[in-house]
Amino acid sequence: ILLELDRLRDKPPETKDGYLVPITANIELLEELDAVGARGAKGIGLFRTEFLFLGAGSLPDEDAQAEAYIRAAESQYPSPVVIRTLDLGADKLPAGFEMPDELNPFLGDRAIRLCLSHPDLFKTQLRAILRASVHDNVKMMYPMVSCVQEVMDANTLLRQCMMELSQEGVAFNQDMQIGTMIEVPSAALIADIIAPHVSFFSIGTNDLIQYTMAVDRGNENVAHLYKPTHMAIIRLIDHIVKVSHKHGLWTCVCGQMAANPQLVPLLIGLGVDELSMSPSQAPLIKDVIRKLYYSAAVELAQKALVSSSAERVDQLCHDMIAQIA
Ligand code: PEP
Ligand code: MG
Repeated sequence: ILLELDRLRDKPPETKDGYLVPITANIELLEELDAVGARGAKGIGLFRTEFLFLGAGSLPDEDAQAEAYIRAAESQYPSPVVIRTLDLGADKLPAGFEMPDELNPFLGDRAIRLCLSHPDLFKTQLRAILRASVHDNVKMMYPMVSCVQEVMDANTLLRQCMMELSQEGVAFNQDMQIGTMIEVPSAALIADIIAPHVSFFSIGTNDLIQYTMAVDRGNENVAHLYKPTHMAIIRLIDHIVKVSHKHGLWTCVCGQMAANPQLVPLLIGLGVDELSMSPSQAPLIKDVIRKLYYSAAVELAQKALVSSSAERVDQLCHDMIAQIA
C-alpha cells in the first residue's frame, strides 16, 4: 500500500474541491532530509534542532550549527524550512551542558525558558539561524512559550544578534518570518496578545494535550486520559486558528494529530493552514486530503465544536473517514 501511496509524491495535497493544505515534514536529523521530498512532503514545518545537541559529546558551535541549518535550507529550497530553537530539557538532555536538577523538569527550566536564562547558548543559535536565513526559505520559531514576555525577550535577543552581524558585515535576512509554538494552554488562551509579535503559530498538540489534560504524554498508566479529541483540545485549536487568521497569521499543526489520518479532516475543517509530520506519514495524509471535500471538513468541524464528548468527536471523525475511503 505504501508503495502505491508513494505514487502521490508529485501530486498536490489538495481536496476534491480545490483547497490546498501544504504538507511539510518534522525532522530531527539531517539524515532525514532526503526522505522529505521522497515521501511527497514539501519543506520542513518543524526542525527539532535540539537533536544536533543530543548526539554530540559537546555542544555544536555557531559554525557547525550554521552549516546544518544551511544544508537543510538548501536541500528544500524554495520550500520553507521552519527551524525551531532549542527545546532542551525534560527528556531531552545534552551532553556537555549542565542542566538544572529539578523535581518536575517537564514544568521546569526548559526550552525557551532555558534559552532565555542562558543567553550565550541562545544567541549562538540565533546567530547561526540568521546566517542560514540568507536562504529566504528559512523561518524560525520558539518552543514552549507560556507568556508573551518570552516572545518579546527572545525577539530582543534576536535584534541584538542582527545588529552584531550587521556590524561584522555578515549577511542575513532582515525579514525572516518568526513564529511561535502554541503548546502550552496559557499561550493558546493569550494567542491574541502574542499574535502582534510573530508571523505564524505552530500548534504542538503533543504538549498541548499533555499540559491541558495534565497527562504525561509518555506515561502508559494514564494513556487512556490522553485524548486529542477532548473538547478542551478542539476548542483550543479552534481558538488559536481563529485568532491567528484575525491577525493575518497562518497556523500549522506539527504535533502527532497532524499525522493521524482520522483527525486530519477535523483539523482542516477547523481552518489549520498547514500540516507537518514525520516524512513517512506524508503519503497517507496526502491520500486523505485528496479524497476529502473541504466543505465536508468544515461541516465536520462545526459538528465537532458543538459536541460534548471526545467519543462523539471520534465517531464523527470515524464516519468521515469511512465515507471517503
Ligand atoms: C509537540 O509538542 O506537539 C511538538 C510538535 O513538539 P515536540 O513533540 O518536539 O515536543
Ligand atoms: Mg512540544
